[in-house]
Amino acid sequence: MHKLFSVKPLLLLSVSLLVACQVRVTTQTGNNALSLPSARIETRDSPSQEELSAPTQVVILGTGTPIPDAFRAGSSIAVVHKGESYLFDVGAGAIRQATIARYRYDIPSLYPSQICCAFLSHLHSDHSMDLSELAHTLWWRRKSGLEAWGPRGIDRIAAGLDEIIAIDADFRINGIQPVTNPNGFRVNHHTISPGILLQKDDLVIEAFLVNHGDIDPAFGFKVTTDDLSLVISGDTAYSDVIAEKARGVDLLFHEVISRQGLAQNSPDFQRYHNSVHTTSAELARLAAIAEPATLVLYHGLFYGTEESTVLDEIQALYAGEVVLANDLDIFTAD
Ligand SMILES: [Zn+2]
Ligand SMILES: [Zn+2]
Repeated sequence: MHKLFSVKPLLLLSVSLLVACQVRVTTQTGNNALSLPSARIETRDSPSQEELSAPTQVVILGTGTPIPDAFRAGSSIAVVHKGESYLFDVGAGAIRQATIARYRYDIPSLYPSQICCAFLSHLHSDHSMDLSELAHTLWWRRKSGLEAWGPRGIDRIAAGLDEIIAIDADFRINGIQPVTNPNGFRVNHHTISPGILLQKDDLVIEAFLVNHGDIDPAFGFKVTTDDLSLVISGDTAYSDVIAEKARGVDLLFHEVISRQGLAQNSPDFQRYHNSVHTTSAELARLAAIAEPATLVLYHGLFYGTEESTVLDEIQALYAGEVVLANDLDIFTAD
């Protein structure tokens, strides 16, 4: 295995890492302005044969937190399977990243008005801000509505989004602009109960309760396809259920707060973070139980410390494969 990894934002690197689980990890960071087409309208009725036969891909759209960060959009992970993109959380900036990923990796289903489905782990704003962007971008060209699953309260969010778009919708529907579907901006919402949320061919998406302190309910997700299995933690304190659900998966995407980062906080915030997030030492313990082929750190709470610190902290306690994710990293089943 070779490793060429950089967090320098102005360099363009393309790296392929072959890991034991047969999941190839390609990492790119760089100048988002490289040869992307400008303002191209895309519509399609169904996925191409090429999309239908492609391996499952996981694209990290955002690895950030509520703290403003120039290089990390809000939390969001896209699973691309048989010509559809399923987004797990939609933090601020995630849809801009989806547009970049659509062209960088040639994934038509990541074009914003082609994205079919979003799953919100919980209703903290850093996981939901871009649901509005997703629902409303080019909505008048959207052929089928956006389906969104979330904890109780998702109905209030959907109603609020209807109100936000009402004036724009009125202009477009009642003016002379062609509108493909007058309901194209609406979020078709589903309240999550633990269990299987969606089953489509060999794709299964399951939600399970995690412990995000007093933010209740909060869910994690397990996704399995014919060629990949993964668990996404959402925001959570150490949760036995994740260790169990992630046992032997190809990819475990888990939030983390570094010990050094935690120490930057006031005692009140340390108490809060300890009750709602997972420390590096706790995550190392969880990973040793679950033994995922690859542990991927995202939604890292760094608090001004060197970002690699959290990776060092985990690697000191856990011998398995660990990756510190950056926005637009991509994982492809082999
Ligand atoms: Zn969060
Ligand atoms: Zn949260």
